[in-house]
Amino acid sequence: MQIVVNGKIEPKFVEQLVTEEKESFAQQGKKIAKIILTECGSEIEIKSYEKSPIRRVRRITGYLANTDNWGAAKLAELRDRVMHTNVNAMTDTTPVKTGVTLRVNGLVYESVVEGPGLRDVIFVQGCPHRCPGCHNPGSWDFEGGTVVDIADVVASIPSSPLVSGITISGGEPFCQAVNLLEVAQYIKDRGLNLWVYTGYTWAELLTHPDPAVNQLLALTDVVVDGRFEQDKADLSLPFRGSANQQLIDVQASLQAGRVILWRCR
Ligand code: SF4
Repeated sequence: MQIVVNGKIEPKFVEQLVTEEKESFAQQGKKIAKIILTECGSEIEIKSYEKSPIRRVRRITGYLANTDNWGAAKLAELRDRVMHTNVNAMTDTTPVKTGVTLRVNGLVYESVVEGPGLRDVIFVQGCPHRCPGCHNPGSWDFEGGTVVDIADVVASIPSSPLVSGITISGGEPFCQAVNLLEVAQYIKDRGLNLWVYTGYTWAELLTHPDPAVNQLLALTDVVVDGRFEQDKADLSLPFRGSANQQLIDVQASLQAGRVILWRCR
């Protein structure tokens, strides 16, 4: 097995991650051909290749270094998050293409930290905001990620009947608003609630020149708005990283003409 380490990752941590990954593959009767560990800001990205075309990407977030305010469920989710970027396999099993593409950073299944309940999360690629302390700097590059047909995206969600909602995060989802409209409609048609994380403020969204932004809002249940601000960071806040960000009940706010905050019901 080949192990490639990019960046400064402690050998002890490398050994631990490789062991965990080997055990995870072994439980599925599979063997790893190659593991690439890459330091990405405060995160470590793990790419594992087996002899088949399957590729798994797991991200260990830097938040793990500061665990005092995190419950066991959140920690377990963060440790086990698996990004399904097996685009070739998705292509093989999804025959009908739409011709509409999305540039994605990855998908995370069964998350409990990006909105209420069990959720699948679509991380889009490309973000103009570049917030210092961003949780996902690997998603900034508009030329990065993977371009997939939205048929492949919707074919992979929901990942389980237990999933009650889908979250679109990033990257900046509203930079690909027009490409996300059919995905959002698919989500709503299946009775799933839709949350969207954006670096734009509510006011910026409402005055955005792209008409698709308003169309996407019309299909969205909750927007978490605003850039991540390090001096307002607070890990105890539910579903957001910094105190300036708001959980906005989109439909109630559009109807009222003012911000109505989402309340857990
Ligand atoms: S808006 Fe989100 S993805 Fe973009 S830089 Fe800020 S924290 Fe990162």
